[in-house]
Amino acid sequence: MGRAFVYVILGGGVAAGYAALEFSRRHVAPGELCIISEESVAPYERPALSKGYLLPENPTSLPQFHTCVGANEERLTPKWYGEKGIELILGTRVKSADLKKKALVTMAGETITYKYLIIATGARALKLEEFGVWGSEAENVCYLRDIADADRMVKVMQSCAGKSAVVIGGGYIGMECTAALVTNKIKVTMVFPEKHLMGRLFTAKMAEFYENYYKERGVKFVKGNVLTSFENDPSGKVTAVILRDGTRIPTDMVVVGIGIRANTSPFDGLDKGGAKLALEKGGIKVNGKMQTSDSSVYAVGDVAAFPVKLFGNDIRRLEHVDSARKTARHAVSAIMAPDETGDLDYLPFFYSRVFALSWQFYGDNVGEVVHFGDFLNSRFGVYWVNEGHIIGAFLEGGAKEDYEAIAKVVKTRSKVSDVGELEKLGLEFAFRE
Ligand code: FAD
Repeated sequence: MGRAFVYVILGGGVAAGYAALEFSRRHVAPGELCIISEESVAPYERPALSKGYLLPENPTSLPQFHTCVGANEERLTPKWYGEKGIELILGTRVKSADLKKKALVTMAGETITYKYLIIATGARALKLEEFGVWGSEAENVCYLRDIADADRMVKVMQSCAGKSAVVIGGGYIGMECTAALVTNKIKVTMVFPEKHLMGRLFTAKMAEFYENYYKERGVKFVKGNVLTSFENDPSGKVTAVILRDGTRIPTDMVVVGIGIRANTSPFDGLDKGGAKLALEKGGIKVNGKMQTSDSSVYAVGDVAAFPVKLFGNDIRRLEHVDSARKTARHAVSAIMAPDETGDLDYLPFFYSRVFALSWQFYGDNVGEVVHFGDFLNSRFGVYWVNEGHIIGAFLEGGAKEDYEAIAKVVKTRSKVSDVGELEKLGLEFAFRE
């Protein structure tokens, strides 16, 4: 049993959708391309799952947020794929690969061969069990990575209106889920081991702003602590969480957002033919054309570890939607128009939205920190200055042109001769450049 394609995209998430659009623009012939996805729906804009999808009133639903609406591009519905002759092989997990034979084998035993393969398998949510905490399969414990998780979370939230939730994790998934829970009239306690929210990105001053905003909406914080076990009722439902220091927090539901791991399987080890892809930073290592150590195989999105020119070609694995979109398009360009495609010159970018707040971050958060703007009125920002140049910038509550301006100073590594002056000028500095 088998099928053969010229181009195979493995994974059906954000990167797959943007790769399909690029293939279509480059006139892939009907029948040449397929997408194989474990999910049962066509590629969609995953960030919607923790935002519009969880709203109690007028939530977004499919087909509204199929890719590529997130980048104001065409919306690729299942009908679109049909019209283009791009085969969607959904509800299908690939369990192994044979790189020498250019073949993938599905769980059902089907062999699908390719001339070019794009690995777009993304990442999965880390489970509490991986940290030695058991019981997260309880019906009122939620994770959030795919649409099935989001449907489950909506159902649990609906049964908990007016009740309480514990959110484990202080990253952006924890923050966005907390905002959604509060909007659904659920009282939230956030528990995380770091000193403050978004420990990997926010400075203490930035975190203080967001924590105060959350506290004003009734959110409680337990910091510097971790979950160690659950208490359950006879039906198995979680009724309380127990923390490392013995604190017991009664709860009606739990949401866990403790990080992700790239889906490198089925490429982690030697494959059937004894071949192996190079791995780095927990992902699949690629060059500036998104090409892996096997020249017929490309990797894009969350699973790809690629050289970021702006950081001196340091290899990074970025877990953000913009990177998924752009690396996907770049790989297709490298496959279909190799002579015209150079190395990707990507500016790392990440955004989030919670309640009425919205921020964007560009570059890297290393070096001297320069806060600016009005922290009382939700309009502030931060520059990171390294060796006399701006290397990162963050802005809360900006307009489109503000975000474009801060992106530009990071991209051009604007020179800073006087940090005091930069602080005084704030956003104005970006417009002067
Ligand atoms: P994914 O979109 O995860 O797609 C991977 C696909 O591969 C899935 O369909 C999966 O089922 C499939 N797959 C994996 N293994 C196999 C296999 N062996 N066989 C078949 N199929 C397989 N980023 C931001 O910048 N801003 C945000 O606000 C933001 N919000 C987010 C909110 C949520 C709830 C989540 C989960 C993520 C958010 N992100 C955000 C991150 C962003 O969605 C990811 O960076 C992006 O989805 C990565 O795209 P991808 O195609 O690499 O992986």
